[in-house]
Amino acid sequence: MSNGYFMMEKPKNDLVRGYLPHSPEREALKAELERQSNQVVKIPLIIGGKEIYTEKTIKVTMPHDHQHVLAECCMAGKEELNMAIQAALDAKEQWEQMPWEHRAALFLKVADRITHDYRPILNASTMLGQSKTAYQAEIDIAELADFLRFGVWNAQELFREQPLSGDGVWNRQDYRPLDGFICAISPFNFTSIGGNLPTAPAIVGNVALWKPSRTAVLSNYYYMKLLMECGLPAGVINFVPCSGGDMSHYVVSHPKMAGFHFTGSTGVFQSVWKQVGEHIASYANYPRLVGETGGKDYIFAHASADVEALAAAIVRGSFEFQGQKCSACSRVFVPESIWTELKEKIQTATATLKMGDVQEFDTFMGAVIDESSFETCKGYLERAQASDQCEILIGGHCDSSKGWFVEPTIIHCFSPDYESMTEEIFGPIVSIYVYKDTELEETMKICDTATPYALSGAIFAQDRNAIVEMERALRNSCGNFYINDKCTGAVVGQQPFGGARASGTNDKAGSLLNMVRWVSAHATKESFSPSKEIVYPYMCEA
Ligand code: NAD
Repeated sequence: MSNGYFMMEKPKNDLVRGYLPHSPEREALKAELERQSNQVVKIPLIIGGKEIYTEKTIKVTMPHDHQHVLAECCMAGKEELNMAIQAALDAKEQWEQMPWEHRAALFLKVADRITHDYRPILNASTMLGQSKTAYQAEIDIAELADFLRFGVWNAQELFREQPLSGDGVWNRQDYRPLDGFICAISPFNFTSIGGNLPTAPAIVGNVALWKPSRTAVLSNYYYMKLLMECGLPAGVINFVPCSGGDMSHYVVSHPKMAGFHFTGSTGVFQSVWKQVGEHIASYANYPRLVGETGGKDYIFAHASADVEALAAAIVRGSFEFQGQKCSACSRVFVPESIWTELKEKIQTATATLKMGDVQEFDTFMGAVIDESSFETCKGYLERAQASDQCEILIGGHCDSSKGWFVEPTIIHCFSPDYESMTEEIFGPIVSIYVYKDTELEETMKICDTATPYALSGAIFAQDRNAIVEMERALRNSCGNFYINDKCTGAVVGQQPFGGARASGTNDKAGSLLNMVRWVSAHATKESFSPSKEIVYPYMCEA
Protein backbone atom coordinates (compact mmCIF):
# COMPACT_ATOMS: atom_id res chain seq x y z
CA MET A 1 0.00 0.00 0.00
CA SER A 2 2.58 2.54 1.06
CA ASN A 3 6.11 1.70 -0.09
CA GLY A 4 7.13 3.55 3.08
CA TYR A 5 7.13 7.04 1.55
CA PHE A 6 5.52 9.08 4.30
CA MET A 7 5.43 12.76 5.26
CA MET A 8 7.97 12.99 8.04
CA GLU A 9 6.44 15.77 10.10
CA LYS A 10 2.94 16.48 11.25
CA PRO A 11 1.61 19.46 9.26
CA LYS A 12 1.22 22.90 10.74
CA ASN A 13 -1.96 24.90 10.30
CA ASP A 14 -1.98 27.18 7.30
CA LEU A 15 -1.02 30.74 8.19
CA VAL A 16 -4.00 33.08 8.53
CA ARG A 17 -3.05 36.42 7.05
CA GLY A 18 -4.04 39.76 8.54
CA TYR A 19 -5.14 41.85 5.48
CA LEU A 20 -3.95 45.06 7.12
CA PRO A 21 -4.14 48.26 5.04
CA HIS A 22 -1.57 48.27 2.18
CA SER A 23 -0.40 44.72 2.92
CA PRO A 24 0.45 42.71 -0.21
CA GLU A 25 -2.31 40.16 0.54
CA ARG A 26 -4.89 42.94 0.80
CA GLU A 27 -3.84 44.51 -2.49
CA ALA A 28 -3.92 41.13 -4.27
CA LEU A 29 -7.35 40.37 -2.83
CA LYS A 30 -8.76 43.75 -3.85
CA ALA A 31 -7.57 43.27 -7.42
CA GLU A 32 -9.14 39.81 -7.56
CA LEU A 33 -12.43 41.08 -6.07
CA GLU A 34 -12.51 43.73 -8.77
CA ARG A 35 -11.83 41.13 -11.48
CA GLN A 36 -14.46 38.67 -10.28
CA SER A 37 -17.07 41.40 -9.74
CA ASN A 38 -16.80 42.43 -13.36
CA GLN A 39 -17.37 39.11 -15.06
CA VAL A 40 -20.05 36.46 -15.34
CA VAL A 41 -18.46 33.01 -15.18
CA LYS A 42 -20.09 30.14 -17.00
CA ILE A 43 -19.74 27.14 -14.67
CA PRO A 44 -19.83 23.74 -16.38
CA LEU A 45 -20.23 20.30 -14.86
CA ILE A 46 -16.93 18.42 -14.74
CA ILE A 47 -17.47 14.74 -15.44
CA GLY A 48 -14.69 12.32 -16.31
CA GLY A 49 -12.35 15.32 -16.53
CA LYS A 50 -14.47 16.99 -19.25
CA GLU A 51 -16.37 20.24 -18.99
CA ILE A 52 -20.02 19.68 -19.83
CA TYR A 53 -22.43 22.53 -20.55
CA THR A 54 -26.14 21.83 -20.05
CA GLU A 55 -29.17 23.83 -21.13
CA LYS A 56 -30.55 24.00 -17.64
CA THR A 57 -28.69 26.71 -15.70
CA ILE A 58 -29.09 28.81 -12.55
CA LYS A 59 -27.85 32.31 -11.80
CA VAL A 60 -25.31 32.81 -9.02
CA THR A 61 -25.69 36.20 -7.33
CA MET A 62 -24.09 38.15 -4.48
CA PRO A 63 -26.13 37.80 -1.27
CA HIS A 64 -25.30 41.43 -0.37
CA ASP A 65 -26.29 42.69 -3.84
CA HIS A 66 -28.76 40.17 -5.20
CA GLN A 67 -29.13 41.73 -8.63
CA HIS A 68 -25.41 41.36 -9.28
CA VAL A 69 -24.86 38.14 -11.23
CA LEU A 70 -21.46 36.49 -10.69
CA ALA A 71 -21.97 33.29 -12.63
CA GLU A 72 -24.30 31.11 -14.55
CA CYS A 73 -24.08 27.49 -13.44
CA CYS A 74 -25.01 24.41 -15.47
CA MET A 75 -27.17 21.86 -13.71
CA ALA A 76 -26.90 18.12 -14.06
CA GLY A 77 -29.98 15.97 -14.59
CA LYS A 78 -30.56 12.24 -14.79
CA GLU A 79 -28.36 11.70 -17.87
CA GLU A 80 -25.36 13.62 -16.53
CA LEU A 81 -25.60 12.02 -13.09
CA ASN A 82 -25.54 8.57 -14.66
CA MET A 83 -22.54 9.64 -16.75
CA ALA A 84 -20.81 10.84 -13.61
CA ILE A 85 -21.41 7.54 -11.79
CA GLN A 86 -19.94 5.68 -14.74
CA ALA A 87 -16.96 8.06 -14.97
CA ALA A 88 -16.23 7.53 -11.28
CA LEU A 89 -16.43 3.77 -11.51
CA ASP A 90 -14.22 3.81 -14.65
CA ALA A 91 -11.56 5.83 -12.82
CA LYS A 92 -11.63 3.71 -9.69
CA GLU A 93 -9.15 0.94 -10.41
CA GLN A 94 -6.30 3.10 -11.63
CA TRP A 95 -6.81 5.65 -8.86
CA GLU A 96 -6.78 3.15 -6.02
CA GLN A 97 -3.67 1.51 -7.47
CA MET A 98 -1.77 4.77 -7.75
CA PRO A 99 1.20 4.60 -5.36
CA TRP A 100 0.35 6.35 -2.12
CA GLU A 101 3.15 8.89 -2.35
CA HIS A 102 1.81 10.13 -5.70
CA ARG A 103 -1.76 10.46 -4.44
CA ALA A 104 -0.42 12.23 -1.35
CA ALA A 105 1.81 14.53 -3.41
CA LEU A 106 -1.11 15.58 -5.56
CA PHE A 107 -3.16 16.76 -2.58
CA LEU A 108 -0.17 18.40 -0.91
CA LYS A 109 0.41 20.29 -4.13
CA VAL A 110 -3.22 21.47 -4.10
CA ALA A 111 -2.72 22.67 -0.51
CA ASP A 112 0.46 24.47 -1.53
CA ARG A 113 -1.32 26.36 -4.26
CA ILE A 114 -4.13 27.29 -1.86
CA THR A 115 -1.50 28.79 0.42
CA HIS A 116 0.02 30.73 -2.46
CA ASP A 117 -1.35 31.67 -5.89
CA TYR A 118 -4.92 30.35 -5.56
CA ARG A 119 -5.54 32.12 -2.24
CA PRO A 120 -6.94 35.39 -3.69
CA ILE A 121 -9.13 33.49 -6.19
CA LEU A 122 -10.70 31.29 -3.53
CA ASN A 123 -10.99 34.10 -0.98
CA ALA A 124 -12.59 36.54 -3.43
CA SER A 125 -15.12 34.00 -4.74
CA THR A 126 -16.03 33.04 -1.16
CA MET A 127 -16.46 36.71 -0.22
CA LEU A 128 -18.57 37.60 -3.24
CA GLY A 129 -20.61 34.42 -3.55
CA GLN A 130 -21.17 33.64 0.14
CA SER A 131 -20.96 37.19 1.57
CA LYS A 132 -17.99 36.61 3.85
CA THR A 133 -15.69 39.39 5.01
CA ALA A 134 -12.01 39.14 4.08
CA TYR A 135 -11.15 37.62 7.46
CA GLN A 136 -14.00 35.11 7.41
CA ALA A 137 -13.02 34.03 3.90
CA GLU A 138 -9.37 33.78 4.91
CA ILE A 139 -10.07 31.38 7.80
CA ASP A 140 -12.33 29.33 5.55
CA ILE A 141 -9.70 28.92 2.82
CA ALA A 142 -6.89 28.32 5.32
CA GLU A 143 -9.06 25.50 6.64
CA LEU A 144 -9.33 24.04 3.14
CA ALA A 145 -5.52 23.80 2.98
CA ASP A 146 -5.55 22.26 6.48
CA PHE A 147 -8.07 19.62 5.46
CA LEU A 148 -5.74 18.54 2.65
CA ARG A 149 -2.50 18.46 4.64
CA PHE A 150 -4.02 16.85 7.73
CA GLY A 151 -5.99 14.51 5.48
CA VAL A 152 -2.76 13.15 4.00
CA TRP A 153 -1.22 12.90 7.46
CA ASN A 154 -4.28 11.10 8.90
CA ALA A 155 -4.30 8.62 6.01
CA GLN A 156 -0.69 7.68 6.60
CA GLU A 157 -1.31 7.36 10.35
CA LEU A 158 -4.08 4.94 9.48
CA PHE A 159 -1.89 2.94 7.07
CA ARG A 160 0.77 2.66 9.77
CA GLU A 161 -1.65 0.85 12.08
CA GLN A 162 -0.78 -2.80 11.51
CA PRO A 163 -1.56 -6.01 13.39
CA LEU A 164 0.95 -8.03 15.46
CA SER A 165 2.96 -10.76 13.76
CA GLY A 166 4.37 -13.88 15.49
CA ASP A 167 7.39 -16.05 14.59
CA GLY A 168 7.24 -17.27 10.99
CA VAL A 169 4.10 -15.25 10.32
CA TRP A 170 3.45 -11.85 8.84
CA ASN A 171 0.04 -10.29 9.48
CA ARG A 172 -0.79 -7.18 7.57
CA GLN A 173 -3.79 -4.98 6.93
CA ASP A 174 -4.58 -3.30 3.64
CA TYR A 175 -6.80 -0.23 3.88
CA ARG A 176 -8.84 -0.51 0.71
CA PRO A 177 -11.06 2.29 -0.51
CA LEU A 178 -14.76 1.45 -0.38
CA ASP A 179 -16.09 -0.87 -3.05
CA GLY A 180 -18.16 1.65 -5.04
CA PHE A 181 -18.30 5.45 -5.18
CA ILE A 182 -18.79 8.24 -2.64
CA CYS A 183 -21.73 10.62 -2.83
CA ALA A 184 -20.63 13.98 -1.39
CA ILE A 185 -23.24 16.70 -0.80
CA SER A 186 -22.04 19.97 0.67
CA PRO A 187 -23.56 23.08 2.32
CA PHE A 188 -23.20 26.74 1.42
CA ASN A 189 -21.48 28.02 4.49
CA PHE A 190 -17.86 26.81 4.16
CA THR A 191 -15.87 26.49 0.95
CA SER A 192 -13.54 24.28 2.99
CA ILE A 193 -16.32 21.83 3.86
CA GLY A 194 -17.40 21.75 0.20
CA GLY A 195 -13.87 20.86 -0.84
CA ASN A 196 -13.28 18.38 1.96
CA LEU A 197 -16.37 16.23 1.49
CA PRO A 198 -15.28 14.62 -1.81
CA THR A 199 -11.54 15.07 -1.17
CA ALA A 200 -11.11 13.29 2.19
CA PRO A 201 -12.40 9.98 0.76
CA ALA A 202 -10.36 10.54 -2.43
CA ILE A 203 -7.14 10.82 -0.38
CA VAL A 204 -7.54 7.16 0.66
CA GLY A 205 -8.30 6.10 -2.91
CA ASN A 206 -12.04 6.58 -3.33
CA VAL A 207 -13.83 8.11 -6.31
CA ALA A 208 -16.69 10.55 -5.82
CA LEU A 209 -19.58 12.54 -7.17
CA TRP A 210 -19.70 16.01 -5.62
CA LYS A 211 -22.87 18.05 -5.49
CA PRO A 212 -21.99 21.53 -4.24
CA SER A 213 -24.59 23.90 -2.79
CA ARG A 214 -26.01 26.24 -5.42
CA THR A 215 -25.16 29.21 -3.17
CA ALA A 216 -21.47 28.24 -2.84
CA VAL A 217 -20.96 26.99 -6.35
CA LEU A 218 -18.59 29.71 -7.56
CA SER A 219 -15.87 29.13 -4.94
CA ASN A 220 -16.45 25.38 -5.11
CA TYR A 221 -15.94 25.46 -8.89
CA TYR A 222 -12.60 27.26 -8.51
CA TYR A 223 -11.49 24.54 -6.09
CA MET A 224 -12.53 21.85 -8.58
CA LYS A 225 -10.55 23.65 -11.31
CA LEU A 226 -7.53 23.71 -9.02
CA LEU A 227 -7.78 19.95 -8.43
CA MET A 228 -7.79 19.40 -12.19
CA GLU A 229 -4.89 21.80 -12.74
CA CYS A 230 -2.87 19.92 -10.15
CA GLY A 231 -3.36 16.67 -12.06
CA LEU A 232 -6.30 14.92 -10.42
CA PRO A 233 -7.03 12.09 -12.84
CA ALA A 234 -10.28 12.32 -14.84
CA GLY A 235 -13.29 10.86 -13.07
CA VAL A 236 -11.83 10.70 -9.55
CA ILE A 237 -14.04 13.60 -8.43
CA ASN A 238 -16.98 14.54 -10.64
CA PHE A 239 -18.44 17.99 -10.08
CA VAL A 240 -22.21 17.86 -10.56
CA PRO A 241 -24.23 20.85 -9.41
CA CYS A 242 -27.86 19.67 -9.46
CA SER A 243 -31.04 19.73 -7.41
CA GLY A 244 -31.00 17.86 -4.10
CA GLY A 245 -33.94 15.82 -5.31
CA ASP A 246 -32.09 14.59 -8.43
CA MET A 247 -29.01 13.70 -6.40
CA SER A 248 -31.17 11.71 -3.99
CA HIS A 249 -33.15 10.05 -6.70
CA TYR A 250 -30.43 9.02 -9.14
CA VAL A 251 -27.29 8.79 -7.05
CA VAL A 252 -28.11 7.95 -3.41
CA SER A 253 -30.07 4.82 -4.34
CA HIS A 254 -27.50 3.48 -6.82
CA PRO A 255 -26.31 -0.04 -5.85
CA LYS A 256 -22.66 1.06 -5.98
CA MET A 257 -23.15 4.04 -3.63
CA ALA A 258 -20.69 2.96 -0.94
CA GLY A 259 -20.36 6.09 1.18
CA PHE A 260 -22.38 9.24 1.80
CA HIS A 261 -20.41 12.28 3.00
CA PHE A 262 -22.74 15.09 3.95
CA THR A 263 -22.79 18.40 5.76
CA GLY A 264 -26.00 20.38 5.93
CA SER A 265 -29.33 20.42 7.70
CA THR A 266 -30.62 17.65 9.94
CA GLY A 267 -33.79 17.25 7.86
CA VAL A 268 -31.93 16.50 4.61
CA PHE A 269 -29.57 14.01 6.29
CA GLN A 270 -32.46 12.22 7.94
CA SER A 271 -34.34 11.99 4.63
CA VAL A 272 -31.27 10.48 2.94
CA TRP A 273 -30.74 8.02 5.80
CA LYS A 274 -34.36 6.92 5.45
CA GLN A 275 -33.94 6.51 1.72
CA VAL A 276 -30.81 4.41 2.21
CA GLY A 277 -32.74 2.25 4.67
CA GLU A 278 -35.50 1.69 2.15
CA HIS A 279 -32.96 0.53 -0.48
CA ILE A 280 -30.71 -1.41 1.87
CA ALA A 281 -31.14 -4.77 0.17
CA SER A 282 -30.13 -3.40 -3.24
CA TYR A 283 -26.71 -2.00 -2.30
CA ALA A 284 -23.54 -3.96 -3.05
CA ASN A 285 -22.24 -2.93 0.41
CA TYR A 286 -23.78 -1.29 3.47
CA PRO A 287 -23.13 2.38 2.65
CA ARG A 288 -21.14 4.36 5.20
CA LEU A 289 -23.26 7.35 6.25
CA VAL A 290 -21.36 10.35 7.60
CA GLY A 291 -23.29 13.54 8.26
CA GLU A 292 -22.52 16.72 10.15
CA THR A 293 -25.82 18.51 10.58
CA GLY A 294 -27.73 21.23 12.47
CA GLY A 295 -27.07 22.84 15.82
CA LYS A 296 -28.36 25.15 18.52
CA ASP A 297 -25.05 26.13 20.03
CA TYR A 298 -24.88 27.80 23.39
CA ILE A 299 -22.85 29.91 25.77
CA PHE A 300 -23.62 29.18 29.41
CA ALA A 301 -22.37 31.75 31.90
CA HIS A 302 -21.70 31.22 35.60
CA ALA A 303 -21.89 34.03 38.16
CA SER A 304 -18.07 34.02 38.36
CA ALA A 305 -17.68 34.71 34.61
CA ASP A 306 -15.38 37.45 33.30
CA VAL A 307 -18.17 39.63 31.90
CA GLU A 308 -16.06 41.47 29.34
CA ALA A 309 -14.76 38.24 27.80
CA LEU A 310 -18.27 36.78 27.91
CA ALA A 311 -19.70 39.79 26.07
CA ALA A 312 -17.04 39.58 23.35
CA ALA A 313 -17.70 35.85 22.92
CA ILE A 314 -21.44 36.41 22.56
CA VAL A 315 -21.10 39.20 20.00
CA ARG A 316 -18.39 37.59 17.88
CA GLY A 317 -19.75 34.06 18.28
CA SER A 318 -23.29 35.02 17.31
CA PHE A 319 -22.79 37.55 14.55
CA GLU A 320 -19.63 36.71 12.61
CA PHE A 321 -20.59 35.46 9.16
CA GLN A 322 -24.17 36.47 10.03
CA GLY A 323 -24.57 33.57 12.48
CA GLN A 324 -24.31 31.10 9.62
CA LYS A 325 -21.54 28.96 11.07
CA CYS A 326 -22.70 25.57 12.21
CA SER A 327 -21.08 26.44 15.54
CA ALA A 328 -22.48 29.99 15.83
CA CYS A 329 -23.80 30.91 19.24
CA SER A 330 -27.57 31.16 19.13
CA ARG A 331 -28.64 30.79 22.76
CA VAL A 332 -27.15 32.10 25.96
CA PHE A 333 -27.85 31.35 29.62
CA VAL A 334 -26.89 34.14 32.04
CA PRO A 335 -27.26 34.38 35.83
CA GLU A 336 -29.24 37.34 37.17
CA SER A 337 -26.28 38.64 39.17
CA ILE A 338 -24.26 39.62 36.07
CA TRP A 339 -27.11 40.34 33.64
CA THR A 340 -27.30 44.12 33.98
CA GLU A 341 -23.58 44.54 33.33
CA LEU A 342 -23.56 42.04 30.45
CA LYS A 343 -26.65 43.52 28.79
CA GLU A 344 -25.12 46.97 28.63
CA LYS A 345 -21.89 45.60 27.12
CA ILE A 346 -23.48 43.45 24.41
CA GLN A 347 -25.94 46.16 23.38
CA THR A 348 -23.17 48.71 23.08
CA ALA A 349 -20.87 46.37 21.13
CA THR A 350 -23.62 45.21 18.77
CA ALA A 351 -24.63 48.79 18.00
CA THR A 352 -21.16 49.47 16.57
CA LEU A 353 -21.08 46.54 14.10
CA LYS A 354 -21.13 47.59 10.47
CA MET A 355 -23.29 45.46 8.19
CA GLY A 356 -22.91 45.90 4.45
CA ASP A 357 -20.78 45.21 1.41
CA VAL A 358 -18.03 42.74 2.29
CA GLN A 359 -15.68 44.41 -0.19
CA GLU A 360 -15.45 47.35 2.23
CA PHE A 361 -12.86 46.25 4.75
CA ASP A 362 -14.52 47.93 7.76
CA THR A 363 -17.59 45.72 7.33
CA PHE A 364 -18.15 43.23 10.17
CA MET A 365 -21.12 41.41 8.64
CA GLY A 366 -22.46 40.77 5.15
CA ALA A 367 -25.91 39.51 4.15
CA VAL A 368 -27.54 36.15 4.85
CA ILE A 369 -27.14 33.67 2.05
CA ASP A 370 -30.43 33.85 0.13
CA GLU A 371 -34.08 34.82 0.10
CA SER A 372 -35.19 31.67 1.88
CA SER A 373 -32.81 32.31 4.77
CA PHE A 374 -33.88 35.98 4.83
CA GLU A 375 -37.55 34.98 5.10
CA THR A 376 -36.79 32.49 7.88
CA CYS A 377 -35.00 35.18 9.91
CA LYS A 378 -37.72 37.72 9.18
CA GLY A 379 -40.36 35.29 10.48
CA TYR A 380 -38.52 34.84 13.78
CA LEU A 381 -38.09 38.61 14.15
CA GLU A 382 -41.75 39.39 13.41
CA ARG A 383 -42.98 36.77 15.84
CA ALA A 384 -40.55 38.03 18.50
CA GLN A 385 -41.81 41.63 18.01
CA ALA A 386 -45.36 40.44 18.57
CA SER A 387 -44.67 38.05 21.47
CA ASP A 388 -45.04 38.79 25.16
CA GLN A 389 -42.63 35.92 25.95
CA CYS A 390 -39.62 37.94 24.86
CA GLU A 391 -38.19 41.38 24.18
CA ILE A 392 -35.86 42.45 21.37
CA LEU A 393 -32.96 44.27 22.99
CA ILE A 394 -31.26 45.44 19.82
CA GLY A 395 -31.69 44.88 16.09
CA GLY A 396 -34.91 43.23 14.94
CA HIS A 397 -35.08 44.67 11.43
CA CYS A 398 -34.22 43.39 8.01
CA ASP A 399 -34.07 44.84 4.53
CA SER A 400 -33.98 42.99 1.23
CA SER A 401 -34.00 45.95 -1.15
CA LYS A 402 -30.35 45.47 -2.21
CA GLY A 403 -29.10 42.39 -0.38
CA TRP A 404 -30.46 39.86 2.11
CA PHE A 405 -29.61 41.96 5.16
CA VAL A 406 -30.74 40.96 8.65
CA GLU A 407 -29.67 43.15 11.56
CA PRO A 408 -27.66 41.52 14.33
CA THR A 409 -30.37 40.89 16.90
CA ILE A 410 -30.43 40.04 20.58
CA ILE A 411 -33.67 38.66 22.00
CA HIS A 412 -34.19 38.47 25.75
CA CYS A 413 -36.47 35.43 26.23
CA PHE A 414 -38.50 35.18 29.43
CA SER A 415 -38.99 31.46 28.98
CA PRO A 416 -36.24 28.96 28.07
CA ASP A 417 -38.56 27.16 25.68
CA TYR A 418 -39.48 30.16 23.53
CA GLU A 419 -39.00 29.16 19.86
CA SER A 420 -35.85 31.22 19.25
CA MET A 421 -34.21 29.56 22.29
CA THR A 422 -34.74 26.05 20.94
CA GLU A 423 -34.91 26.07 17.11
CA GLU A 424 -32.01 26.41 14.66
CA ILE A 425 -32.38 29.76 12.85
CA PHE A 426 -29.01 29.99 11.09
CA GLY A 427 -28.93 33.78 11.02
CA PRO A 428 -27.63 36.69 13.14
CA ILE A 429 -30.15 36.25 15.94
CA VAL A 430 -29.13 35.28 19.47
CA SER A 431 -31.54 34.53 22.30
CA ILE A 432 -30.75 34.99 25.96
CA TYR A 433 -32.40 33.46 29.00
CA VAL A 434 -31.62 34.93 32.41
CA TYR A 435 -31.71 32.38 35.25
CA LYS A 436 -31.75 32.77 39.02
CA ASP A 437 -28.26 32.21 40.44
CA THR A 438 -29.71 29.56 42.75
CA GLU A 439 -31.04 27.57 39.77
CA LEU A 440 -27.78 26.70 38.06
CA GLU A 441 -28.30 22.94 38.07
CA GLU A 442 -31.90 23.07 36.77
CA THR A 443 -30.89 25.53 34.06
CA MET A 444 -28.01 23.33 32.88
CA LYS A 445 -30.53 20.49 32.60
CA ILE A 446 -32.67 22.72 30.38
CA CYS A 447 -29.65 23.62 28.26
CA ASP A 448 -28.87 19.92 27.84
CA THR A 449 -32.38 18.79 26.95
CA ALA A 450 -34.27 21.69 25.37
CA THR A 451 -33.11 20.97 21.80
CA PRO A 452 -32.45 17.76 19.87
CA TYR A 453 -28.97 19.03 18.89
CA ALA A 454 -25.52 18.57 20.46
CA LEU A 455 -22.96 20.40 18.33
CA SER A 456 -20.98 23.04 20.18
CA GLY A 457 -21.21 24.78 23.54
CA ALA A 458 -19.19 27.05 25.80
CA ILE A 459 -19.11 27.86 29.48
CA PHE A 460 -17.77 31.00 31.10
CA ALA A 461 -16.68 30.77 34.74
CA GLN A 462 -13.65 31.60 36.86
CA ASP A 463 -14.59 29.44 39.83
CA ARG A 464 -12.80 26.11 39.19
CA ASN A 465 -15.37 24.06 41.15
CA ALA A 466 -18.09 25.55 38.96
CA ILE A 467 -16.12 24.67 35.82
CA VAL A 468 -15.81 21.06 36.98
CA GLU A 469 -19.52 20.86 37.76
CA MET A 470 -20.59 22.48 34.48
CA GLU A 471 -18.31 20.31 32.39
CA ARG A 472 -19.83 17.23 34.01
CA ALA A 473 -23.44 18.37 33.65
CA LEU A 474 -23.06 19.41 30.02
CA ARG A 475 -20.89 16.48 28.85
CA ASN A 476 -23.45 15.14 26.37
CA SER A 477 -24.82 18.49 25.26
CA CYS A 478 -22.22 19.01 22.52
CA GLY A 479 -19.37 17.45 20.54
CA ASN A 480 -17.16 20.55 20.90
CA PHE A 481 -16.89 22.16 24.33
CA TYR A 482 -15.17 25.43 25.17
CA ILE A 483 -14.17 26.82 28.54
CA ASN A 484 -13.91 30.60 28.66
CA ASP A 485 -13.93 30.88 24.87
CA LYS A 486 -16.63 31.36 22.22
CA CYS A 487 -18.30 28.24 20.88
CA THR A 488 -17.06 28.81 17.31
CA GLY A 489 -13.69 28.75 15.57
CA ALA A 490 -12.61 25.09 15.64
CA VAL A 491 -9.28 24.58 13.88
CA VAL A 492 -8.38 21.37 12.02
CA GLY A 493 -5.87 19.34 14.02
CA GLN A 494 -6.61 21.35 17.19
CA GLN A 495 -10.32 21.02 17.97
CA PRO A 496 -11.67 18.12 15.85
CA PHE A 497 -15.17 19.25 14.93
CA GLY A 498 -18.51 17.47 15.01
CA GLY A 499 -21.54 16.84 17.15
CA ALA A 500 -23.85 14.06 18.22
CA ARG A 501 -27.63 13.63 18.70
CA ALA A 502 -29.43 15.45 15.82
CA SER A 503 -26.18 17.29 14.99
CA GLY A 504 -24.58 14.40 13.18
CA THR A 505 -22.62 11.19 13.29
CA ASN A 506 -19.75 12.99 15.06
CA ASP A 507 -17.03 11.63 12.79
CA LYS A 508 -14.90 14.77 13.36
CA ALA A 509 -14.13 16.35 9.99
CA GLY A 510 -10.42 16.55 9.23
CA SER A 511 -9.44 13.90 11.79
CA LEU A 512 -8.40 10.25 11.73
CA LEU A 513 -11.88 9.31 12.96
CA ASN A 514 -13.32 10.64 9.71
CA MET A 515 -10.70 8.97 7.51
CA VAL A 516 -11.48 5.59 9.04
CA ARG A 517 -14.98 5.76 7.56
CA TRP A 518 -13.66 5.77 3.98
CA VAL A 519 -11.65 2.56 4.10
CA SER A 520 -12.56 -1.09 4.22
CA ALA A 521 -9.78 -3.07 5.89
CA HIS A 522 -8.52 -6.28 4.37
CA ALA A 523 -6.50 -8.48 6.76
CA THR A 524 -3.92 -10.93 5.42
CA LYS A 525 -1.92 -13.60 7.25
CA GLU A 526 1.10 -15.12 5.52
CA SER A 527 2.86 -18.16 6.99
CA PHE A 528 6.53 -18.55 6.05
CA SER A 529 6.77 -22.20 7.16
CA PRO A 530 3.23 -23.53 7.14
CA SER A 531 2.55 -26.49 9.40
CA LYS A 532 2.43 -29.91 7.71
CA GLU A 533 1.04 -31.63 10.81
CA ILE A 534 -2.54 -32.75 11.15
CA VAL A 535 -2.47 -34.47 14.53
CA TYR A 536 -1.80 -32.23 17.57
CA PRO A 537 0.98 -33.18 20.04
CA TYR A 538 -1.45 -33.35 23.02
CA MET A 539 -3.22 -36.22 21.25
CA CYS A 540 -0.24 -38.59 21.82
CA GLU A 541 -0.68 -41.30 24.49
CA ALA A 542 1.63 -40.75 27.46
P1 NAD B 1 -29.06 22.19 3.42
O1 NAD B 1 -29.37 20.94 4.17
O2 NAD B 1 -30.18 23.04 2.99
O3 NAD B 1 -28.22 21.85 2.11
C1 NAD B 1 -27.04 21.07 2.17
C2 NAD B 1 -26.87 20.37 0.83
O4 NAD B 1 -27.91 19.40 0.69
C3 NAD B 1 -27.00 21.32 -0.36
O5 NAD B 1 -26.06 20.96 -1.35
C4 NAD B 1 -28.42 21.05 -0.83
O6 NAD B 1 -28.65 21.35 -2.18
C5 NAD B 1 -28.54 19.56 -0.57
N1 NAD B 1 -29.91 19.05 -0.50
C6 NAD B 1 -31.05 19.73 -0.23
N2 NAD B 1 -32.10 18.89 -0.27
C7 NAD B 1 -31.62 17.66 -0.57
C8 NAD B 1 -32.20 16.38 -0.77
N3 NAD B 1 -33.49 16.18 -0.63
N4 NAD B 1 -31.40 15.34 -1.08
C9 NAD B 1 -30.07 15.52 -1.20
N5 NAD B 1 -29.46 16.70 -1.04
C10 NAD B 1 -30.21 17.77 -0.72
O7 NAD B 1 -28.02 23.02 4.33
P2 NAD B 1 -27.37 24.44 4.05
O8 NAD B 1 -28.43 25.48 4.15
O9 NAD B 1 -26.51 24.42 2.84
O10 NAD B 1 -26.39 24.57 5.29
C11 NAD B 1 -26.84 24.95 6.55
C12 NAD B 1 -27.06 23.75 7.44
O11 NAD B 1 -25.86 23.00 7.51
C13 NAD B 1 -27.38 24.14 8.87
O12 NAD B 1 -28.36 23.27 9.39
C14 NAD B 1 -26.05 23.95 9.60
O13 NAD B 1 -26.18 23.70 10.98
C15 NAD B 1 -25.51 22.76 8.87
N6 NAD B 1 -24.05 22.67 8.97
C16 NAD B 1 -23.54 21.80 9.87
C17 NAD B 1 -22.16 21.67 10.02
C18 NAD B 1 -21.58 20.71 11.02
O14 NAD B 1 -20.36 20.52 11.03
N7 NAD B 1 -22.39 20.09 11.86
C19 NAD B 1 -21.31 22.45 9.24
C20 NAD B 1 -21.87 23.34 8.31
C21 NAD B 1 -23.24 23.43 8.18
